[in-house]
Amino acid sequence: MDTAAFSAWIREFARLVGQNKDYLTELDSAIGDADHGANMTRGLNAVVKMLDEEKPDTPSALLKRTGMTLVSTVGGASGPLYGTAFLRMAAAAGDAETLDDGTFAKMLRAGLDGVLARGKAQLGDKTMVDALTPAVDALDATLAAGMPFPDAMQAALRAGEEGRDATVPLVARKGRASYLGERSAGHQDPGATSVTMLLAAAATTLTA
Ligand code: ADP
Ligand code: MG
Repeated sequence: MDTAAFSAWIREFARLVGQNKDYLTELDSAIGDADHGANMTRGLNAVVKMLDEEKPDTPSALLKRTGMTLVSTVGGASGPLYGTAFLRMAAAAGDAETLDDGTFAKMLRAGLDGVLARGKAQLGDKTMVDALTPAVDALDATLAAGMPFPDAMQAALRAGEEGRDATVPLVARKGRASYLGERSAGHQDPGATSVTMLLAAAATTLTA
């Protein structure tokens, strides 16, 4: 996976979020303040502009600038959380010009660890962590079992989608949705939903 592959990944993430902007907003209107679609679209549009203008020349530089751009353009909880994830992924990518599948898996886990450190959410709190954790676990497990990267990434995507779907009955314990208490149950978490778009983008653009 080279810089061009990472650029394709982030651009595809931006495209999927843009395409689903109203859906993400609808989910956030049920248990939040109806801005997740707008927040993420604004941030990712700025990221695509940054990629066009700056053309970062290593995977790490690209991920770092993506994280910085998200932190500075996305209002709300999701900006610092996604921003931290990308900054941690950048650090895990090191100076390499190309990354192998094992390094990508380590990178994704570093991103998850960043979200956990920053947001202090636990599994089951009805947040983006509930989609990202099973995805990262599935990627590690399938790669360890010798599965080729494209299949392993598909398995990670499915695990993330199951985690996203499993947020529906949960009562939120972090973020704005937690203000609703029991009334947050019965709705899918917006952040867990956008995380599956990040995973879906990886599954179609990163083929190792
Ligand atoms: P805001 O809640 O500030 O309006 P967004 O609507 O953009 O920000 O993002 C909401 C999403 O952020 C939630 O659906 C949830 O997945 C995620 N989130 C909120 N707080 C946390 C946290 N502490 N840890 C992890 N994810 C969180
Ligand atoms: Mg919101």
